[in-house]
Amino acid sequence: MMTRRELEAQERRSLAPYAIHASDSRGRPHREPEHPYRTCFQRDHDRIIHSTAFRRLEYKTQVFVIHEGDYYRTRLTHSLEVAQIAETIARALRLNIDLARSIALAHDLGHGPFGHSGEDALRELMEGHGGFDHNLQALRIVDLLEQRYPSFPGLNLTQELREGLNKHRRSLPGSAKPPPSNLGLEAQVVDLADEIAYDHHDLDDGLTSGLILEEEVGKIPIWRQARREALKRGPATRPEIRRYQVIRFLINWRVTDLIRESERRIRKSGIRKPSHAQATRERTIASSPEVEGLRAPLKRFLNERLYRHPRVVRMADKAQRLLAELFRAYLRKPEQLPDTTRRRLSKEDPYRVVCDYIAGMTDRYATEEYRKLFDPSERV
Ligand code: MG
Repeated sequence: MMTRRELEAQERRSLAPYAIHASDSRGRPHREPEHPYRTCFQRDHDRIIHSTAFRRLEYKTQVFVIHEGDYYRTRLTHSLEVAQIAETIARALRLNIDLARSIALAHDLGHGPFGHSGEDALRELMEGHGGFDHNLQALRIVDLLEQRYPSFPGLNLTQELREGLNKHRRSLPGSAKPPPSNLGLEAQVVDLADEIAYDHHDLDDGLTSGLILEEEVGKIPIWRQARREALKRGPATRPEIRRYQVIRFLINWRVTDLIRESERRIRKSGIRKPSHAQATRERTIASSPEVEGLRAPLKRFLNERLYRHPRVVRMADKAQRLLAELFRAYLRKPEQLPDTTRRRLSKEDPYRVVCDYIAGMTDRYATEEYRKLFDPSERV
């Protein structure tokens, strides 16, 4: 049997000195014995996969609400795509793949139902009560809300994983020190893998839905360039294969550029330890200025034509109204909440309790609950 110690020794031989090594982990908020044949980050990964919040990602929206079609990305498939891209980059840069993959799978755990419109609704409702931010909510889930162990709340993930989720560098509950000025390299990788994943799958889903058209996308320079290059490798007659080849080419282009540019920055800044990367203000993991310049018009296009498409906006607005009404109904009559949630009310701000409950809902559950509470003909 391959032991944990052997796995850790393998990491010391194969990872770069600036990678976060499992054997250097600062441990978990609650002390636990180490596992005989899994490293601490492999164990984090397994805990995330088995969590309730992870399973619920399947029925949470990315851009398209779940009932609009089976084809589109959900938060679960998005997270898997982010993990795939992050792994490729981490491997090429000799960073810790287990840590990068785990951060990627957990990075969206804190999203409520209905994507960003859901987050906007909760932020507004929580004004004056501590606000709402999906990154911090992911930390609340892994630190407090998942109930799995008899002697502590949460999943008790490593400090490195928790820090990786703290994208905006806020002071974390339970830690005396302010967070370092930058994310570790593995978390920086995930941040950009996230961007590469959603740029391209939103483009793909947007085209599939017919909300944006290939003729319009064809005017964006990065798409035009990728299309030319992709088709050089073999003409495709079917439009969906052609489109897939362009998107495939774009992702590979962005990932390759990111690896090269990051490697250049690592060399230039002389980073030799994980703490060096966390102390520099500037991101070490980055795209080249050339690719950033090419990406800008694509980003603008998606903002204007897809994220603000009348159909997307109508659904987003409906979702916000639905969540606001649920929120107010629970606050008015907390007896409608399930037992475990209601029990928290005597000790905590009712707004936070209701917010946690709603943020945990899937799109599907929130919609059903709304029907049950507001449609007189529905069973309660
Ligand atoms: Mg994401």
